[in-house]
Amino acid sequence: MTDIEGKVVVITGASSGLGEATARLLASRGAKVFLGARREENLKRIVGEIGENAGYAVVDVTSQAGVQAFVEAARERFGRIDVLVNNAGLMAIAPMSATQVDEWDRMIDINIKGVLYGIAAALPIFEEQGSGHFINISSVAGVKVFSPGGTVYSGTKFAVRAISEGLRHEVGGAIRVTTISPGAVDTELKQGTSHAEAAQGVNAFYEIAIPSDSVARAIAFAIAEPADVDVNEIVLRPTVQD
Ligand code: NDP
Repeated sequence: MTDIEGKVVVITGASSGLGEATARLLASRGAKVFLGARREENLKRIVGEIGENAGYAVVDVTSQAGVQAFVEAARERFGRIDVLVNNAGLMAIAPMSATQVDEWDRMIDINIKGVLYGIAAALPIFEEQGSGHFINISSVAGVKVFSPGGTVYSGTKFAVRAISEGLRHEVGGAIRVTTISPGAVDTELKQGTSHAEAAQGVNAFYEIAIPSDSVARAIAFAIAEPADVDVNEIVLRPTVQD
């Protein structure tokens, strides 16, 4: 029995990328995983491949009611929730002068408000259980500002770290809070950039990207630590990334 075996782990943004990789890795180590995202066909396929210790519900993290229903569905399926991984995210890189205000809104709604809605849904459950673990996905872009073009994305990821740290101060004790801040990871994330010139830069930058499993292993490490150890933050990146 490892410290992962039997734990119920709920993951947003699990239809691709590092959310999917995390679900697969944790399930292989005996966790029960509950996946959420908008693309149901992906969720159905991944859950089918993992087997009976996996479930899913379609969720758009920009809807508070939707996130509430998603978290409730997870608890209904597995009886409790040990970990919530707030992972869903969007990266739309563009210079501020392009004023892509709609994309600023979407990044704020998904990357910040989505995380807050996850906290709002799971915190009362964790308090009732007397235990729980939030894992919030920030970024190296939440540690330093990627400029030009990454200003708003970095702003959202700095916010995730700030919210995580504040949350830890408030609920620390029985409830753990971990921030994971990855560098370039090979996923669909780069497709979120619509600005043509910025997209070229993003694609060139991502040539150094490492596999999603690297982040999944970091998440597994934080979960597997004993309950009296709270891994507060892990920053990881390709060895060659600045
Ligand atoms: P992907 O694009 O592969 O995954 C993003 C996930 O978020 C998808 O499953 C997507 O599913 C989901 N998602 C997006 N919008 C919503 C929404 N409104 N509601 C619910 N789910 C949503 O990229 P990654 O795996 O790389 O991204 C995961 C996290 O990792 C993000 O927070 C990202 O910022 C962060 N990160 C990634 C890095 C990288 O280099 N890849 C580096 C640092 C951080 P669907 O479209 O089906 O809804």
